[in-house]
Amino acid sequence: MTACATTGLLVTSMTSAEARDDDASTWEQRWHPFREEWVLFTAHRGGRPWRGEVKAPAPADVPAYDPTCALCPGNQRLGGTNPAYAGTFWFTNDLPCFGPDAPPAACDDDLYRVRPAHGTAEVVCYHPDHSRTIVDLSLDEAAAVVDLWADRTAALAVRPEVRHVLIFENKGELVGTSNPHPHCQIYAGDLIYGHTAREVESGRRHFERTGRYLGQDVLDRERSGGRVVVENEAFVACVPWFARYAYEVLILPTRQVSSLLDLTAGERRLLGAMVREVATCYDNLWRMPMPYVMAVHQAPADGGDHASYPFHIEFHPPLRKPDTMKYLAGPEIGGGSMTNESNPDAKAAELRAAAGPHYRSGRSVEPRP
Ligand SMILES: [Zn+2]
Repeated sequence: MTACATTGLLVTSMTSAEARDDDASTWEQRWHPFREEWVLFTAHRGGRPWRGEVKAPAPADVPAYDPTCALCPGNQRLGGTNPAYAGTFWFTNDLPCFGPDAPPAACDDDLYRVRPAHGTAEVVCYHPDHSRTIVDLSLDEAAAVVDLWADRTAALAVRPEVRHVLIFENKGELVGTSNPHPHCQIYAGDLIYGHTAREVESGRRHFERTGRYLGQDVLDRERSGGRVVVENEAFVACVPWFARYAYEVLILPTRQVSSLLDLTAGERRLLGAMVREVATCYDNLWRMPMPYVMAVHQAPADGGDHASYPFHIEFHPPLRKPDTMKYLAGPEIGGGSMTNESNPDAKAAELRAAAGPHYRSGRSVEPRP
């Protein structure tokens, strides 16, 4: 399949349901319009023999309460005792990476620049049950998580030292999280994180060049390109044409918004449902808890005009097969550009086929929207 960047015409020679990894063009680079960088596609190499380490699925037998967990209700943690919370719960990270009392920079040097790291960091627990993940939450509970993200964004964004609120979830041991308690983190400091800083510029440049919103133009392409995984009235999840990881998913809003603060209460509820749906597709794909890094990309809180910023949520799973990691190595760490060894059309079809009730039985949740 080829897309013409100048006319917007989409020429497709196959439906995504028929797409396979080895159908993808070989030796092709695709432009990542949000990050404004090239991604190298080498789907013809995805099936090469692997003689390295294989990853076993995470253990599924997790207790509802763990007396050693720093996030469970009533438990002691470094900075105090958790209340016996019943729904969501947030607290200031006991070891925040930004500080309210950061000391002044030691010196001012044109080459080796330095500045204090003002701000704070928070932890958000989705649910008191240690054994659950987002897929096990009811729609009300998932909506409460997104409501809390928006509430914390609003509270943190007005602080004078905060220029960006980054919300992210590291899920699973493969991305460095040994505690399965359902939670995410919020970093709020005077650093505008790099991807967001780039998306500020790419969104603005696209709007100045075309008079259209970058996020909405990408949404149109993904819909017409057949890479939608699931959608509801306010959000679309897709494996983008320019995906950097095999099973990368973007959740895009169906109207231009730049942050969680722009969403209506109804949209926040639909976003909670969509996050749950994407996580369910992931788990169903290989019938195992899927590890991922999830990041909420929202406009900086630096007082600038970010009307063209493309709000979205990104999921980056580290696995490209149930037992095989996508290792970042020479091209990625050494060279600084991503290589994707898969065909996004085929990966979207795989995830789409995995939509529906979660594979695990015994969980009582409401019907999906
Ligand atoms: Zn816990």
